[in-house]
Amino acid sequence: MNSYENSLEFAQKQDQNDPLGKFREQFLIPTDKNGNPHIYLCGNSLGLQPKKTREYLNIELEDWQKYGVEGHTDARYPWMPYHEFLTEKMAKIVGAKPSEVVMMNTLSVNLHLMMVSFYQPTDRKYKIIIESDAFPSDKYAVESQLKFHNYDPKDGLILWKPREGEELCRFEDLEEIMESQGEQVALLLIGTTNYYTGQSFDIKKITELGHKYNCMVGFDLAHGAGNIQPNLHKNGPDFAVWCSYKYLNSGPGSVGGCFVHERHANNKELKRFTGWWGHNKSTRFNMRHEFDAIEGAEGWQLSNPPILSMAAIRASLDVYDEAGFENVIAKSKKLTGYLEYLLKDINDSRIQLITPENPEERGCQISIKLHGATKELFDDLTANGVISDWREPNVIRVAPAPLYNSFEDVFKFVQILKKLLQ
Ligand SMILES: *Cc1c(COP(=O)(O)O)cnc(C)c1O
Repeated sequence: MNSYENSLEFAQKQDQNDPLGKFREQFLIPTDKNGNPHIYLCGNSLGLQPKKTREYLNIELEDWQKYGVEGHTDARYPWMPYHEFLTEKMAKIVGAKPSEVVMMNTLSVNLHLMMVSFYQPTDRKYKIIIESDAFPSDKYAVESQLKFHNYDPKDGLILWKPREGEELCRFEDLEEIMESQGEQVALLLIGTTNYYTGQSFDIKKITELGHKYNCMVGFDLAHGAGNIQPNLHKNGPDFAVWCSYKYLNSGPGSVGGCFVHERHANNKELKRFTGWWGHNKSTRFNMRHEFDAIEGAEGWQLSNPPILSMAAIRASLDVYDEAGFENVIAKSKKLTGYLEYLLKDINDSRIQLITPENPEERGCQISIKLHGATKELFDDLTANGVISDWREPNVIRVAPAPLYNSFEDVFKFVQILKKLLQ
């Protein structure tokens, strides 16, 4: 149990004693016109730029200049195997074996590629379950997969919904859906951490539930990767996908990640869409071979990867590695707990925190429902140097990112919010 105090001195003292405090210096924090840093609480949407990123990108620009095509083999970090430089560090952050992880494409693309393999509907078993407040792209993706296989989403798509008057999804309600319709369900696709409420689901329980009914189980970790430890290998879902530009600080639109559980590493039964980068590395350039998939997640690659984006990811993963992901999680709990404590201490009945209170059921995001508020309040926050995120009709999402946000950031944000509410 953390014991917090509502004072600037307390916040500053936490920052002084914070083992990750020095990492803030490694990031470029946007500023106002006068050069004062914003209170940036939007790492759930776009993570900030590590100072290393420019240096890592420059290495590739220099080597491209120097070597041209020969950079594929002669660059300091040769481009041919470049994605492999990311694998081990990425695998640690999602709790996977390196052979289960690959960085490629972007999230929605990977989601489709995974569904090509893991959504194989039959006349009896064709439905897909998602959580009702799934990110729009995920909903579009599963609806289009249903239609692609000639099913009507009205029939084929099942929404796991919060109960009337509640904000969060309950596991027992998912169990009930499975009890009544599990035989018809082919795929469970759940976003964790949920982008809207900040709710993190129990990956192990959901996976076991799905597998009990012979369903494939996949997770969208867009808001999970770099935020919670999903322990993908141990928890056992069939696949997972994520992006790298939110908590993983790899730059706008940067390349995404993909996990395929080891049990499918050599599964020849799975259909897949293929391209040359997924082909056996030793014969990839012979060009006339039958497709021979690389074992593991790498076998799902299509194209040779965008090295500049990969360099940005490499920079960011090096920051994570230096910090240690366990330390990031430990600070995340403390810092998010502090934010929650201060928000409750405003003691205003218009404020409703919709994110779960249990630290195991959330990452570093708190979603604040402001009853009676309009977007004007959000605009005022922005005018006061707070970068956060507004969801209609009245929810502000704030995410103190443990690598660059301070206790002082959190304290100041709550002071500003309190002032604006008065
Ligand atoms: C951010 C986010 C996306 C974005 O997908 P892209 O393909 O990277 O544009 C998709 N799904 C979820 C759940 C997200 O949070």
